[in-house]
Amino acid sequence: MIKEIKVKTALSPSQLPCLDYAINPYRGCAHACVYCYAPSVIHWDKGKWGELVEVKINLPRLLSKELRAKKKGVVGLGTVTDPYQPAEKRYELTRRCLELLLMHDFPVCIQTKSSLVLRDTDLIKSFSNIEVGISLTTLDERVREKMEPGASSVDERLRALSELRENGIKTWVFLGPLMPHITDVEALVDAVAEVKPEYVLMDRLRLKEGVWERVRGFIQEFRPELLYDYERIFQGGGEYYGEVLERVLSRCKKNVLRCEINRLGD
Ligand code: SF4
Repeated sequence: MIKEIKVKTALSPSQLPCLDYAINPYRGCAHACVYCYAPSVIHWDKGKWGELVEVKINLPRLLSKELRAKKKGVVGLGTVTDPYQPAEKRYELTRRCLELLLMHDFPVCIQTKSSLVLRDTDLIKSFSNIEVGISLTTLDERVREKMEPGASSVDERLRALSELRENGIKTWVFLGPLMPHITDVEALVDAVAEVKPEYVLMDRLRLKEGVWERVRGFIQEFRPELLYDYERIFQGGGEYYGEVLERVLSRCKKNVLRCEINRLGD
């Protein structure tokens, strides 16, 4: 369900490293990823995550005013919810924000799980400073369909990364969350290396408020044989990810791919 809403501000200060501001044209996200922790970040109390998306219809008008008054800084587009989720096809809020940011020459960092970002290649490649990050959790399309039901397929995302790069746009890949015994990290790094992003940023599964219940339900339904291990891993602390991290680093090294580790929230 879509609901149009009006907001009071467009740009908000960002706490994320390397970003000065954040813009999120949508509240709620129809990609409905099982592991999403955005509901706890935005204190979502409007039912099941993914079923309702609020569209901030007055956001571009506000942004136009705010950009004239704000000091220039890096803008994260889609820091909490995906800026290229399905509603964007119709509302084009992200596109209108990009037009304004380009006009004022603000540096931009986009993060998405949708190949709809390609629609805006014309604008993106006109920026003097912009990068596009695409997230990948698995190469297995059957798992992707269950885990990230509303997002683009694995192939579409890999193709989008290639196409963006062919257009001279700086790309990076968010490798995560790496799901224990589900993500084949070696195969994932190899596939990502082929589309030549500038770097990858890897992250573990973060069980913020409400996430464990959803992940547990997902494992119980689709991979019940893993339930015992998941309980052990997530009750037992970080040892599991220490080893995974080493494997990712080593595979990236083999592929001559720069790898960073997300330490936010550690
Ligand atoms: S795309 Fe991002 S914001 Fe949207 S549901 Fe998935 S993890 Fe959450």
